[in-house]
Amino acid sequence: MSENIGYEISVGLEVHAELKTKSKIFCGCPAGFGGEPNTQCCPVCSGMPGVLPVLNKEAVRHAVMAGLALGCDIERVSVMDRKNYFYPDLPKAYQISQLYKPLCKNGRMEINAGDTKKNIRIKEIHLEEDAGKLIHDEIGNRTFIDFNRCGVPLIEIVTMPDMCSSGEVREFLENLKNILEYIEVSDCKMQEGSLRADVNLSIKDKGCPVLGTRTEMKNLNSFRSIIKAVESEALRQRKIIEQGGRIIQETRRWSDADGCSYPMRSKEEAHDYRYFPEPDLNPIIINDEYIREIYEMIPELPNNRARRYSSEYGLSDYDSRMITSSKKLADFFERTVTKGADPKKAANWLMGDYLKMHNDGCEDEPVFRFSPEGLAEMIQLIKDGRITGRIAKDVFEKMYTIGGTPRDIIKKDRIEILSDTETISNVIKKVLAENPGAAEDYKSGKAKAAGFIIGRVMRETGGKADPVMVKDLIIKQLTDI
Ligand code: ZN
Ligand code: MN
Repeated sequence: MSENIGYEISVGLEVHAELKTKSKIFCGCPAGFGGEPNTQCCPVCSGMPGVLPVLNKEAVRHAVMAGLALGCDIERVSVMDRKNYFYPDLPKAYQISQLYKPLCKNGRMEINAGDTKKNIRIKEIHLEEDAGKLIHDEIGNRTFIDFNRCGVPLIEIVTMPDMCSSGEVREFLENLKNILEYIEVSDCKMQEGSLRADVNLSIKDKGCPVLGTRTEMKNLNSFRSIIKAVESEALRQRKIIEQGGRIIQETRRWSDADGCSYPMRSKEEAHDYRYFPEPDLNPIIINDEYIREIYEMIPELPNNRARRYSSEYGLSDYDSRMITSSKKLADFFERTVTKGADPKKAANWLMGDYLKMHNDGCEDEPVFRFSPEGLAEMIQLIKDGRITGRIAKDVFEKMYTIGGTPRDIIKKDRIEILSDTETISNVIKKVLAENPGAAEDYKSGKAKAAGFIIGRVMRETGGKADPVMVKDLIIKQLTDI
């Protein structure tokens, strides 16, 4: 809504992240994605009468770690509640969640908002179970149910309505995904549905201290649709207000195909769910020692890592942020530096050639078919003048697509480095004859002219000449004349 000066949008998110535990939250079934439908379930997670849930300790640990990484207070006593509603993907007809006493409260996350930093407040993080999956068969007009996802542990991260643009929403989600990946509590694979967001959005006059009426859009599962949904909903609300209408508080369904949202139902309130404390589970009671133990296991988080890259390796803020925007990429970078590579060179290769090819390939996660040693070796080969920058680019492309070390690729593809004195000298003679002006310039003291001649010689040899030799031979020829 950047074109609109008079209104301001307020967005709050409810983000569901599946926890990466081996088993489900209240039974021993595997919690992993995939598997034939209805093969990863038991009487507990398929809601048979008379069964009892047993809380998975690992799910609590994961949730506490997420809470600590997001600056939350961890409640020493928290309670699971029943949220009652009927829907075919919920065989018990209630979801075990937390309403009155969630596990984590009052967190925050710093995001970049334009040139400044901004804190997005996190109201709470609660622990709950996932529902099953409905698979609609449009042609046969039937719906199938897969209970494998029932009972997969989730954390729901609830923010305050502190985001004022789709850009801030994106920043928040990217940071959140990154942090959850760093602490290894969630895979955050949006295409597998392990990270989904509900978007609450309202608009108000700029500077007005009171929020407008909000709508909610549920279960968006890609960054792209979240951003589009925010922008389109803001526009829809603005149009209504400008035409003198009123916003109705409701839940809306976002359609990616149509690029707009449709009313689904009027907004439900907490009391509609008849929440009550889950009678089959004890309160979760944890102590300081437990929290400290988890706190000490939190690895260096992306923001701190980025700061360290700037101070330790002299990378720019932007470069540090880009590299640390994925734990996999940052780990790879650090190992390359450990193998002796110049940090700035390593960063350039990863952020330039590597990310370009990676983004073209549309792969979700960074994939490396070559090793940090391989990249370090290539940087060294260039430094030693063994290969030219141009050849290095070809070699790197092979490393990216097929894998292997630069030495192997050079050998296998018979990439020749032209280091034959006579051949190079002949090319230099030709270039000097064609550019008498440059030779004159050099002799009259313009050192820059040598660079021009080097460039021409490299071009003539298709970038294959050994650049160190070229330079030496040019200076020799020019001073000999
Ligand atoms: Zn089960
Ligand atoms: Mn929820």
